[in-house]
Amino acid sequence: MNEYAPDKRIQSFHPPQRTLMGPGPTEIHPRVLTTMSQPAIGYLDPVFVEMMEELKSLLGYVYQTRNPLTFPLSGPGSVGMEYCFVNLVAPGDKVVVCRNGVFGGRMVENVQRMGGEPIVVEEAWGSPVEPQKVEDALRKHPDAKVVAFVHAETSTGCASDARTLTGIAHDHDALVIVDAVTSLGGIPVHVDGWDVDAIYSGSQKCLSCTPGLSPVSFSERAVERVGRRSDKIHSWFMDMNLLLGYWGASQRTYHHTAPTNSLFALHEALLLIREEGLEDCWARHRRHHVALKAGLESMGLEFLVAEGHQLPQMNAVICPEGVDEAAVRRQLLEEFNLEIGAGLGPLKGKIWRFGLMGYSCRPENVMLCLAALGSVLSDMGLPVHVGEAEAAAHGAYAEMHADYAERRKRA
Ligand SMILES: *Cc1c(COP(=O)(O)O)cnc(C)c1O
Repeated sequence: MNEYAPDKRIQSFHPPQRTLMGPGPTEIHPRVLTTMSQPAIGYLDPVFVEMMEELKSLLGYVYQTRNPLTFPLSGPGSVGMEYCFVNLVAPGDKVVVCRNGVFGGRMVENVQRMGGEPIVVEEAWGSPVEPQKVEDALRKHPDAKVVAFVHAETSTGCASDARTLTGIAHDHDALVIVDAVTSLGGIPVHVDGWDVDAIYSGSQKCLSCTPGLSPVSFSERAVERVGRRSDKIHSWFMDMNLLLGYWGASQRTYHHTAPTNSLFALHEALLLIREEGLEDCWARHRRHHVALKAGLESMGLEFLVAEGHQLPQMNAVICPEGVDEAAVRRQLLEEFNLEIGAGLGPLKGKIWRFGLMGYSCRPENVMLCLAALGSVLSDMGLPVHVGEAEAAAHGAYAEMHADYAERRKRA
């Protein structure tokens, strides 16, 4: 008898089959799951090293960049965030940080922990970052070294203009750090076209892979800046100069044990995007967003974010007065196996967040979600007619198909 042995009744874990329409993780394509369960190999095995090269080129495709330093970090999106800040922000550096939601707030935290001085550009939650405010902040602080912002703020469903913000930063000789955790794969991201210096994402949002990897990309300017640092970077694990020997060099050396099977999975997830075509992948996110939105609005629900700044992959709607926000989510999960997201911070209890990311972004999910929500809200006594939201979504799809047929005819 071992006194530490846990209860014998513990059995193998089998999660239920859920429809995931929250802020991530997303559902995973069966091909990705199959790939993941293949045999383990060593992280310096020549076959694995070859796969790493393909993985880097696939990431260059989704990021639209030829940056040689484009690779996945071992860790979730939060690791990508911290990696960018720990390498690019030295103690005493001024950093303009745009905050219009939860993740901008985490960037401020990061700057403080690196010993930097954050210059915070505040925006209301649900509004995009205002370029003029960034310009003003840089005029006031011409010595700012970095500008950091979130491209797609997942906590509110709002997109900011990454191209314009990057241009402003460069006009003032500052580098940019861009959070593309929710944007990558869902809306256009052009690292080379926008001349972004440092960008990070996550594997479990629009890339629809297992959580735990953070694809990053760095411009030559950023790599040089890190190489020129005279102080020792405060994290051994995250020091870019050390990791270059594994992901960046032709002769790979041990840095840490790479999560091999997760990397097989990311290779497959990116290959799926390559097969679909990146532009078609962005268009799919838009198409299902338009249909979902038509359905949600037909139920009288209002979007938090103004038209024109709404993210297709993250739809935040305001919970109607008098409705128990959490009870709706609970019922969706218990009755329909459907997970949606709650509000965070000041939006807690006030909004629902409907994700349409990656493999979760499919017509059957849009229809299930509208049917389930219509039935739950109707049960709660709201003036919602079951079936009307699906009809509205159907109408939106039909209209988009008609547009498409028309364009085809003209082409
Ligand atoms: C999810 C998310 C993160 C954090 O990613 P994790 O993988 O959860 O660590 C960072 N930024 C944004 C915008 C996100 O949506």
